[in-house]
Amino acid sequence: METTGEKIQVTANVGDERIQNGVVYIKWFAPPEKMSQALKKLALFWGIALVSVLIPVFHFVSVPLFFGLGIFFALRSYKSEGKVLSGAVPCPHCLHEVQVKPAELQWPISEICQNCARVVRMEKSVV
Ligand SMILES: [Zn+2]
Repeated sequence: METTGEKIQVTANVGDERIQNGVVYIKWFAPPEKMSQALKKLALFWGIALVSVLIPVFHFVSVPLFFGLGIFFALRSYKSEGKVLSGAVPCPHCLHEVQVKPAELQWPISEICQNCARVVRMEKSVV
């Protein structure tokens, strides 16, 4: 099982024709892993929903709320392909190095350049 992540080449842009190449490290979720992560989230929220049944009045709101949130987060982690571990790309505008923070993977990956405050979008490079 891959635990350190796969190195992926990305191209970054700031919304114009200038691009820079960088890398991100991604940990891909295997389907059983996605399923167990989704089920864990579901169990967590439904557990909270069950406990909140005991709270008077509030349970009219909290039970359906946590029930719904559980389904929402479970579906979201089921759909996610993997997780971004780290990465770096030079900002296409000012060439300052933009660090990619760990997050659930969603293409394109966006980060804000700490130097010029532009939104840097990273797409998987087609090699
Ligand atoms: Zn910049």
